[in-house]
Amino acid sequence: MAVACRIVAESLEELKGLISPGVTTLELDSFVEAFILERGGIPAFKGYRGFPNSLCTSINNQVVHGIPSSHSKLNDGDIVSLDLGVFYDGYYGDAAVTYPVGNINPYAERLLEVTEESLYKGIEMARPDKRVSDISSAVQFHVEKNGYSVVRDFVGHGIGRDLHEEPQIPNFGSSGQGPRIKEGMTFAIEPMVNTGDYAVVILEDKWTAVTKDGSLSAHFEHTVAVTKDGPVILTQLKKK
Ligand code: MG
Repeated sequence: MAVACRIVAESLEELKGLISPGVTTLELDSFVEAFILERGGIPAFKGYRGFPNSLCTSINNQVVHGIPSSHSKLNDGDIVSLDLGVFYDGYYGDAAVTYPVGNINPYAERLLEVTEESLYKGIEMARPDKRVSDISSAVQFHVEKNGYSVVRDFVGHGIGRDLHEEPQIPNFGSSGQGPRIKEGMTFAIEPMVNTGDYAVVILEDKWTAVTKDGSLSAHFEHTVAVTKDGPVILTQLKKK
């Protein structure tokens, strides 16, 4: 699982270097598919319930599950969420990041900061004897404290031999509920945060989720292993 997760992390890091105005989301998808296959991994999203591509690319008011397209060009000032899953030797890894395109305004920058911070607040709770909703409530508290909302319609999840396993890990809810967290569990924790209301709608392509009010949305995700000493982030590259 650590190998699958490392391929995810390396892929997202490589993609960072490709993000610039004028690049299409399909170019990002093609690049990352080849990158994963070269490393012996299999893109986990391609074909998952009919999803057509390896990478989910969600721009600005798109929340998650955006479909890469040759018509979808990144523009200066956009934010783009990239969500990626890899299957390797029987196990899955899953992570997401929202990157700025060129120069973004301070409001967008703040959204990215708060969303990423909320992910780490959630991860901190992924330790033995906490409960699943301790993760949820830590994420929600940080997001709402900063004046944003957490999306309700999509949640984090257990991950391992399947891409989506029990338990569901919502990004909202009061602490102290749900299954007790145990050493050896592996979770994908993934707050999706809107600057406006949390309501989302699905576009006609049956995949792309957008904010109902057109507000900006960001998404950060890590796959995390629970050890007796606390959480270990598997989809994070070791600092050099
Ligand atoms: Mg996920």
